[in-house]
Amino acid sequence: MSIGENQWTRREAIGHTALAALALPMMGPVSLMAQNRSERGSYEVPTLPYALDALEPYISAKIMELHYTKHHRGYVHKLNQVAANIEQQPIEKLLQNIDSLPQKLQTPVRNFGGGHYNHTLYWYSMTPTTTGQPGGALGEAIVAKYGTFDEFIKNFRKAALTLFGSGWAWLSLDKHQEMVLEITRNQDNPIMFGRTPLLGVDVWEHAYYLQYHNRRDRYVDAFLNVVNWNRVAQRYQAASGKQ
Ligand code: MN
Repeated sequence: MSIGENQWTRREAIGHTALAALALPMMGPVSLMAQNRSERGSYEVPTLPYALDALEPYISAKIMELHYTKHHRGYVHKLNQVAANIEQQPIEKLLQNIDSLPQKLQTPVRNFGGGHYNHTLYWYSMTPTTTGQPGGALGEAIVAKYGTFDEFIKNFRKAALTLFGSGWAWLSLDKHQEMVLEITRNQDNPIMFGRTPLLGVDVWEHAYYLQYHNRRDRYVDAFLNVVNWNRVAQRYQAASGKQ
C-alpha cells in the first residue's frame, strides 16, 4: 500500500521533534519538512543533525558553517517575507501549488521555498556515520533499475557533473513509483514536477568551492561518502510503501 505524502511528512516531522528535544544525533525517521514553521507561523531552519565539523574531511566545517548558517538561513528569511502574504501551509504543499499563487509570488517561492526544502533534505541526507550500501527495498529497487549499486552511483555522479551552472541532482520516485535520476536548475526540485525526492546533492558552487575549488567531481565523490542511506531508505519506504 502506498503511503501518502502527508503521512510521510507527519511521520518525519514527529521524528524530528522528538530528536530535537533530546538533542541526540539523528537516528529515527526525521526530515522535518512539516516541522518548519514556528509557533509564530514562519518557516525555520531545521536543527542540524550533527556538528558543523562532523562531516570532515569530506565536507569541511567552514563550508558547513557558511552553507547552513548563511545560505540556508538566507533562503528561510526571504521565504518568510514572501510567506507573510500566503496562507500557512507545509513547505511541500506550497511547492506543489506554486502555479496557484499570485504571479508575482511564484518566482520568490520557487527560489526561496525550494532553497529551504532542498537544503533541509540535503542536511538530513548526510551523516558522519557510515551506513554502507542500501539493502532492503531500496537496495532491491536500485539494482532492479540500474543493474548494480555501482552502476547507479556512476549514473548519479554523471547527472551531478552534467548539470551546467547552479542546481541539484536527484534520485526521485515518479508517480508510477519508478526511480528516476534528474537534475533541476537553481532551487527547483522534484516536488515541483510531481515527483518525490529520495536523495539530492547540491551542486551550487557555494556547496564546494571553498574546499574543492572547481573540482565538482571531487565534491560529489566526497558527498557520496557521507550519504545516509538509512534515511534514503526511509524516504523510499514512505513513498513506495515497500519495506
Ligand atoms: Mn546550497
